[in-house]
Amino acid sequence: MQKLIERIKKDGIGIGTEILKVDSFLNHQVDVELTEEIGEEFARIFKDSGAKRVLTVAASGIPAAMATAKAMGNLPFVFAKKAAPNTMIDGFYAAPVRSFTKGTLATVRVSKQFISKDDNVLVIDDFLATGEAAIGLLDLIRQAGAKCVGIGAVIEKEWQGGAKRLEDLGYRVESLAVVTSINDDDIKFRTL
Ligand code: 5GP
Repeated sequence: MQKLIERIKKDGIGIGTEILKVDSFLNHQVDVELTEEIGEEFARIFKDSGAKRVLTVAASGIPAAMATAKAMGNLPFVFAKKAAPNTMIDGFYAAPVRSFTKGTLATVRVSKQFISKDDNVLVIDDFLATGEAAIGLLDLIRQAGAKCVGIGAVIEKEWQGGAKRLEDLGYRVESLAVVTSINDDDIKFRTL
């Protein structure tokens, strides 16, 4: 998505060789108009996927995933939580996820009410790095007896291997911007 790539070039900040900071427009302060266009782009890409629900993980995937659900005809949208609120009284599915940015191990949870057997689930996240977060969400989908019909990443960092890992498991992976290397502010992209 050219507009997204231009925005990353303008406002993205590379940290060392592994981390890209986009919190001025994507996952802290949020450019709502750009996020809506991201949702429309995913809706176009996944229009024939049969998705019946959009799933992400709190917190940074929420804006893009929500915009995607809206653009796909207001599909039900759910985000996995990283804390266990005592309001989840009807039981939940849980899976471990190692955080790429924090290096910590968290448990992601979705209430059993919000993914049902035979659901077709589209997973959307802000970043795809090693694929850990997506693997955790796939585990929740599997526990529910549902199916993942695709995985969309706003930004993929190609060399960290997440897309290949998920594709090798048989999933369709689509990224709107593929970063091929970061060297502080020298950020390179796969050409479209
Ligand atoms: P993965 O689980 O694929 O290794 O990493 C994806 C998750 O880690 C995303 O949910 C995202 O929040 C976070 N993440 C991974 N790499 C980056 C990065 O370069 N910048 C930011 N802001 N978040 C990242």
